[in-house]
Amino acid sequence: MSATRIALVGIGKIARDQHIPTIAASPDFELVAAVTGHEPPEGVPGFRTIGAMAEAVEVDAVSICTPPRGRLAIVEKAFTLGLDVMMEKPPAATLSEAEAFAALARRAGRVLYPTWHSREAAGVEPARHWLQGKRITRVTCHWKEDVRVWHPGQAWIWEPGIGVFDPGINALSVLTRILPAPLLLQSAALRFPSNRDAPIAADLDYTHDGAPVRVEFDFDQRGPQTWDIHVQTDGGTLTLSLGASKLAIDGTPVDVGEEPEYARLYRRFAALRGGRESDADLSPFRHVADAFLLGRRATTHPFEE
Ligand code: NAP
Repeated sequence: MSATRIALVGIGKIARDQHIPTIAASPDFELVAAVTGHEPPEGVPGFRTIGAMAEAVEVDAVSICTPPRGRLAIVEKAFTLGLDVMMEKPPAATLSEAEAFAALARRAGRVLYPTWHSREAAGVEPARHWLQGKRITRVTCHWKEDVRVWHPGQAWIWEPGIGVFDPGINALSVLTRILPAPLLLQSAALRFPSNRDAPIAADLDYTHDGAPVRVEFDFDQRGPQTWDIHVQTDGGTLTLSLGASKLAIDGTPVDVGEEPEYARLYRRFAALRGGRESDADLSPFRHVADAFLLGRRATTHPFEE
């Protein structure tokens, strides 16, 4: 089968860090255009809108790498033009908007893939399999990183809404994949910098089939970054570390390979396109909405870049 002609929409940090090199290395995709308000990547024509691109270039699919707010218009246009769509997490600014995408895809007969890149980390599927049939007694998750490193100078991350849940949703995407029962939020504490409209930290307490699940997010972590999940069970303790790229059972490392997340994401999109199937699981995003519904709010020190 010939490679899918794909265009990137929004050429920012993640497009440059991951999407462009991953597409270049993929046998399944060919980058044929960019929709950007700035300079396109080298060797690729750039267009201000999807419509202008579709008039000039033959394209099969788009991969959306813009911030979550404002994606509905992009998705609608892409489907109107007969393109399949994958998109960066979080899928949208609101749950209702994200839910609207699936109906649009069905109506247009197109493939929709709101991605969860952390779900493609090498340890996730082995962890999910190991946990099956075990009694889970406690889960702890620490997802702590420095916003200055991962979102340097990005204003959108501090708009009302997502804040620390931008990385936190990665942890939620892993937890909702590996744990066999639903997570039920019991309480949430959100900390907002006095000069920002989005939380910089969150402590979340869930139950999972009666067992306690403690989840802590922090966007102000200097030095080493922490992306760890520990699951205690009646058959031992499972640890996912380094963003679920490493797996250990009772402290002993398990070889899970090293295939990068974005290579797997694009392979999955190729498979979905091959089967004309969508994969639009919004459960991680629903948990973010729950956290805002139950979240007790506190104000903390001002955020300095
Ligand atoms: P970014 O560096 O700010 O880039 C976003 C790009 O989207 C901009 O360069 C711009 O593209 C376009 N854009 C359109 N409307 C915009 C607006 N109102 N404000 C800002 N940019 C706008 O963001 P990013 O870090 O790449 O994040 C993009 C998406 O990827 C987010 O959903 C994020 O959660 C996800 N993501 C980010 C990371 C990371 O490490 N930063 C990791 C994984 C996933 P043009 O310049 O081409 O016009």
